[in-house]
Amino acid sequence: MSKILIIEDEANIARFIELELKHEGNEVAKALDGRTGLDMALAGDYDLILLDVMLPVLNGLEVLRRIRLESEVPVIMLTARDAVMDKVSGLDAGADDYITKPFAIEELLARIRVALKKRGTTSVKSNKIEIGSVSLDEDRHEVTVNGENVELSNREFELLHTLMKNKNIVMDRDKLMNLVCGYDYMGETNIIDVYIRYLRTKIDDKYGIKLITTVRGVGYIIKED
Ligand code: CA
Repeated sequence: MSKILIIEDEANIARFIELELKHEGNEVAKALDGRTGLDMALAGDYDLILLDVMLPVLNGLEVLRRIRLESEVPVIMLTARDAVMDKVSGLDAGADDYITKPFAIEELLARIRVALKKRGTTSVKSNKIEIGSVSLDEDRHEVTVNGENVELSNREFELLHTLMKNKNIVMDRDKLMNLVCGYDYMGETNIIDVYIRYLRTKIDDKYGIKLITTVRGVGYIIKED
């Protein structure tokens, strides 16, 4: 049995989904506006949230953004037909999936099952990434090499985190800059090279390993065989 929150202002749609989900054996709560939905989402321990985009008081994308500041609960967005921007913004803001209204209830139930299953597999996984002797713990914001702690600044950590998460994928400088410094960063363009140099001093050089590889003219990659 899962605990599911429906945030949807169209009462008949909310009621319809509620009945179907209850019929499947789930525990269901409802909110009819964005503000109430957000408060409930943050207060309750839900397994999944169905979130309409067009909501009174606080719109769905804003609700999602605020949920994501505090929680990784799976969220499926309910979007209007052809609202491509909503889908893209929703996924960017951290939605797990979306479904277009009007939808067949079987499809919604199937997507809910997938999202719940995904959560089940991610929750048992620790938030550690290990590549060779290097281990990065997202929760504790900690990096160790051979079990030894490496002191990194926030940006060094973010850069290393980004490269390790995307291991075996070449990351170009622009993408790294956006991900590490933010899209509105207006500073020097060689900032990534500078941080790479710091990381290499603290990790590659110090421990005699080759963690970060330069891809000439493109960017950087961390490879794992
Ligand atoms: Ca609506």
